[in-house]
Amino acid sequence: MKNIFPGALSVCLSAILILAGGCGQAGIREFTKTDTAMGTVVRISVYSAGEDPTGETLSLIRRLEEETLSYRLDTSEVFRINESAGDPEGIPLSDTMYRTLAACQKLTEDSGGAFDVTLGALTRLWDIDQWAAGLRTGSFQIPEEEDIREALSRTGADRLSLEAVSHGGAAYLEEGTALDLGAVGKGLALDETAGYLEQQGDITAAAVSVGGSVLTYGEKPDKSPWRIGIADPDDPSRTIGVLTLRGQWCISTSGDYQRYVEVDGVRCHHILDPATGYPAKSGVRSVTVVSAQGMLSDALSTACFVLGAEKGMELAAEYGAEALFVTDSGAVVMTPGMEEWFQETESENTEE
Ligand code: AMP
Ligand code: MG
Repeated sequence: MKNIFPGALSVCLSAILILAGGCGQAGIREFTKTDTAMGTVVRISVYSAGEDPTGETLSLIRRLEEETLSYRLDTSEVFRINESAGDPEGIPLSDTMYRTLAACQKLTEDSGGAFDVTLGALTRLWDIDQWAAGLRTGSFQIPEEEDIREALSRTGADRLSLEAVSHGGAAYLEEGTALDLGAVGKGLALDETAGYLEQQGDITAAAVSVGGSVLTYGEKPDKSPWRIGIADPDDPSRTIGVLTLRGQWCISTSGDYQRYVEVDGVRCHHILDPATGYPAKSGVRSVTVVSAQGMLSDALSTACFVLGAEKGMELAAEYGAEALFVTDSGAVVMTPGMEEWFQETESENTEE
């Protein structure tokens, strides 16, 4: 474990893609697009010898939200699964959903319950995402203790059973329980994107960010590495350091500065601790995880945020992932593999 910036006032990280390095190869052009999907900003940058693929990339991320992941849209698979709660017949699952939920259940077990996609009743009670996005009006109130206890009684991995069948699987959800895949959705979007890019013969490199998750793919024409800025939780427009990576990776950051509401000077952020029902307080402000798989980088960053630095590093190691934490005191701690990629930002910086 490495401890940098002991006692620094601010520390931290959120994945910010730093794009530099133009086209150096004949026929290869860079195409970029910035738009919104999954309730966040999507940035796409692709180097290709063919047509502009950024529109199709954005569409596939939006389709994933509408058809699979959203718990608000009645067009999605998650919505239908939640509707089926209490049905003893259960509901058939697509192959992607079955594999995702099975992986989530394993992570719930491996994280001692810190990561839990059956938290829907609780996440909706707090509804921090909606408050933070300005989609709810009125004044935010911390939920009553009794309501938190009641919502918690409707969560837990034992309230979701999965069954494998030849194509996909089936899910049985207990009455009153709801899935919330907000902790893995952006990572899944990166995995889908990587699959799409691989199918296009003329794409040599790409970088795609969906909120706090970034996919790097291939090698830029000028052969320069990918640079991912880690945001300062105290001022997310600044970076505390940069990860320098080559090739295909997924980099996800979970932080208390990403979605939150402040009430009487207390920050209520969007990552909830299933053990207490309240926003997680594990001594960290943000966690960045690097993995070859987006679903894992995303899920692990959320799980590690709830677990805190010490246990989080153990969990990341079990999954062969690297993790970097910015602690409450402003220290940056990371797994040994992350040290190979991380470089601290010199005091003043202007990178965005
Ligand atoms: P992320 O920004 O990837 O860390 O995911 C946070 C989102 O995941 C929240 O907005 C909730 O929708 C959901 N969530 C909150 N707490 C948890 C938790 N402990 N386990 C799984 N999902 C969670
Ligand atoms: Mg996550």
